[in-house]
Amino acid sequence: MRVGVLALQGAFREHIMTLEALGVAAVAVRKTEQLGGLNALIIPGGESTAIGKLMAAYGFYDAIRQQHGAGMAVWGTCAGAILMAERIIDALPDQQPLRLMDIDVRRNAYGRQVDSFEADLDFKHLSGGPFRGVFIRAPWIERVGPGVEVLAVHQGQIVAARGTGVMATTFHPELTGDPRVHRFFIDEVVGS
Ligand code: GLN
Repeated sequence: MRVGVLALQGAFREHIMTLEALGVAAVAVRKTEQLGGLNALIIPGGESTAIGKLMAAYGFYDAIRQQHGAGMAVWGTCAGAILMAERIIDALPDQQPLRLMDIDVRRNAYGRQVDSFEADLDFKHLSGGPFRGVFIRAPWIERVGPGVEVLAVHQGQIVAARGTGVMATTFHPELTGDPRVHRFFIDEVVGS
């Protein structure tokens, strides 16, 4: 099992550390050639406009779509969830989603007043009690398509979901030191 973490901008190091703690080989992906042979790719949180610009500059849009079509699972956290979506609500004019997952995601959904917060989440299929969600200028998921399962809801808004070979979380599971969401992705989404 080899999992890549897109390492153009944002919180990629923490994902790599969490994967390594689980005994999973993790690769910091900076070039499209590194996608070959990966079972999965994590697109981290950060700034979706910056990550998207760098992805476009280095040819990642086509390369990620191609590898995903060949079986590479993809998980986006926060900015990564925005980039995976079918549609970005409140996108900047030149911001393009990868359209890997049948979800619509609203950027900066919580606005300025409560733009960052933590909350205990009831995350479906995880045992061991609530999962601490760290939300940083987070989006939420406003629509899920027919093949998408909702995994967590916070105050009426969808904050985690999965489909076949895809998962999106609008919070940052790599910042809590709790590896259960990473474990779930490896065991249940990769190869699905
Ligand atoms: N607000 C950021 C964006 O629009 C996402 C923040 C995050 O990834 N923590 O890309």
